[in-house]
Amino acid sequence: LKYSEEQAKRKQLYNQIQETKGNIRVFCRCRPLSREESSNGCATVVDFDAAKDGDLGVLTGGSNKRTFKFDRVYTPKVVVDVFADASPLVVSVLDGYNVCIFAYGQTGTGKTFTMEGPEHNRGVNYRTLEQLFSVARERSDAFTYNLSVSVLEVYNEQIRDLLATSPASKNNRLEIKQTSEGSHHVPGIVEAKVDNINDVWSVLQAGSNASILCIMVKTKNLMNGECTKSKLWLVDLAGSERLAKTDAQGERLKEAQNINKSLSALGDVIYALATKSSHIPYRNSKLTHLLQDSLGGDSKTLMFVQISPSEHDLSETLSSLNFATRVRGVELGHARKQI
Ligand code: ADP
Repeated sequence: LKYSEEQAKRKQLYNQIQETKGNIRVFCRCRPLSREESSNGCATVVDFDAAKDGDLGVLTGGSNKRTFKFDRVYTPKVVVDVFADASPLVVSVLDGYNVCIFAYGQTGTGKTFTMEGPEHNRGVNYRTLEQLFSVARERSDAFTYNLSVSVLEVYNEQIRDLLATSPASKNNRLEIKQTSEGSHHVPGIVEAKVDNINDVWSVLQAGSNASILCIMVKTKNLMNGECTKSKLWLVDLAGSERLAKTDAQGERLKEAQNINKSLSALGDVIYALATKSSHIPYRNSKLTHLLQDSLGGDSKTLMFVQISPSEHDLSETLSSLNFATRVRGVELGHARKQI
């Protein structure tokens, strides 16, 4: 009974943010002006007048203003709401859904702040896991949950296991394989069993600078003995700034190109899903291939689009907001052009 009440409550919460059909939510979060920007008298181009309705205004020069619509818009000061809004989605991994949460945006806009957070104000990763353990405990008379965590990174289109301990296994070429049931996994990757939030904390420290966390949940329904597996991905994406702006060369250029490739591959996958294309190009990048089980189907996706309020970042901000609009827009069925 406790479980069904709790599930009903969560569904209600989820429906509140689900003003539209589909499984992709986009939350927009803006960082504050930095101290340096403030002292330089840097102007702010964002307007939060209608933020509570999910509208974000951007002053694009002169008296021009563009308005973008998202599922949520957070002013720089908002903290707690961000997690409260994300939590129904996160907890649905305990109901057997695959979930993917990722932070997208230019470097320095708060992706790490949102996902990891400073120690005094922890981010989505920590709070998410804290909540998973607490809900799992509440449901312990009806379900047993086994949780494990992998910490990885995709660098230059290679998967690195940040929990691997020996230098040899660190350098292993990890590949993505498909199981006979059709789900995807990385054979040989460390899956650290976690029983409580302290276990997770030590895992996270071991995999510092983690960009990708995967929480695997094995659920046993004690009523009917049924077992299910689900996954929660928490991804701090690389900075989305456009290549033209970097004057990188050599290795740095290769890195920037690969980052670009995974971000545009992610956009292409979401676009193909939304337009119900017969071919979803998951294999075009390691990132989308990895996340395959948690993008599309009945899985749930939450994208944080992170932006800067500064006039100096206007063009990157518009580019991120356009990307996010297309991600959200395509699900609503008014896709126009390819991401
Ligand atoms: P990114 O991961 O996108 O490169 P960071 O998370 O490192 O960006 O954020 C850049 C800086 O902005 C950090 O100093 C961070 O503490 C600060 N910051 C970002 N978002 C917020 C926020 N909502 N409130 C206060 N400070 C923030």
